[in-house]
Amino acid sequence: MLHALYCMLAAIFYHFKDPVMIVDGKMQYLFDEQGKRYLDCFAGIVTVSAGHCHPMVNKAIIEQTERLQHTTTIYLNNQIAEYAKELTDKMPGNLKVAYFVNSGTEANELAFLMARLYSGNYDMIALRNAYHGISESTLGALGLHTWKYNVPSGFGVHHAMNPEKYRGKFGDDVDAYVDDLNDVINCSTSGNIAGFIAETIQGVGGAVPLLDGYLQKAYEVVRSHGGVCIADEVQTGFGRTGSKYFGFENQGVVPDIVTMAKGIGNGLPMAAVVSTPEIAQTLAQKLHFNTFGGNPVCSAGGRAVLRAIEEDRLQENSHKVGTYLLQRLSTLQEKHDVIGDVRGKGLMVGVELVTDRKSKQPALEETSQIFESCKDKGVLLGKGGLHGNVFRIKPPMCISKEDVDFLIHTLDESMQAL
Ligand code: PMP
Repeated sequence: MLHALYCMLAAIFYHFKDPVMIVDGKMQYLFDEQGKRYLDCFAGIVTVSAGHCHPMVNKAIIEQTERLQHTTTIYLNNQIAEYAKELTDKMPGNLKVAYFVNSGTEANELAFLMARLYSGNYDMIALRNAYHGISESTLGALGLHTWKYNVPSGFGVHHAMNPEKYRGKFGDDVDAYVDDLNDVINCSTSGNIAGFIAETIQGVGGAVPLLDGYLQKAYEVVRSHGGVCIADEVQTGFGRTGSKYFGFENQGVVPDIVTMAKGIGNGLPMAAVVSTPEIAQTLAQKLHFNTFGGNPVCSAGGRAVLRAIEEDRLQENSHKVGTYLLQRLSTLQEKHDVIGDVRGKGLMVGVELVTDRKSKQPALEETSQIFESCKDKGVLLGKGGLHGNVFRIKPPMCISKEDVDFLIHTLDESMQAL
């Protein structure tokens, strides 16, 4: 069986040296083919928001599948309409029109298109260390060489410095990063831009939060150059940061376009772009169509995810358990020099490992050893950052404090064994 998988997936990498075969899932736990239980601290790359096989979500999917699976948007169906209403009810301001697509990459592609059509400009600004997908334009917006193929991509996309505290070129000087954004626009574009895209916590880049106050000032700069502001909420949305439903709300801004995927569907292949009626209207210049976007099963599932987050109080749990996790990790940092930085918000947390706290040299060998050892002890972590030396802890949002205790104990033991 494994051999067959290896043959099929030549270009796909495996998370662990000795790949794990996962066959069952229940809320925050995964089980391999031998029945061994793992605490899932990565949630299928920040995708399983409410919990694996959440009963309410599963029920909605099964019921809708039995009734009607597919039509496309050429017919009316209540599920997509009610879903669009329920989703946009969560959004501030005039963000009231939703387009449904199938992946985060596709959502960002569509957002770029809308920004360009609406502004009448072409150039887009992204941040270094960002991840927005790996299609042609989103590959251009990517700010991590590890994912970029060496092909022409992303014509018209430029990168500004990412405002981060730990490794940022200007430390925690927000204004210096805003000046850099202004310089990029003035020096690399005509001065008129289509838009700006950013995650509020850079996920693949290693759970790197943008400095507080950056987005407010950046949005002002972008709008003064004719651009629209896109918030990529693919990882930070749906209560994951605990304090707010969407990550951008933590920075006190209202974007013009919001893209969502992953946690929106708890594992269903679905994504959305929410915008204002004025911006959304630009797509009406031509026929616009997406075969699977907003199909009845995904819409019913997406509605159930919204309900599950509400009824299980998952945003509150992200806040409570996430704060506890950050506290316990900070204590662990006092004990183990290999931990250079602990950061994040809610259940979107990064732990960066270094060989020396002063030089911040990435601790690659140590990261790999601890990562594999945690897996053997029953904890699945994520890994990320430009150098791959950051543990990304982003579990299903139903994780408990007892699970966090087990995670900390496992990390502690694995670090001690170094
Ligand atoms: N944006 C962000 C912030 C992401 O983390 C990802 C996926 N890692 C994407 C976009 C692309 O999503 P997808 O893989 O569903 O295309």
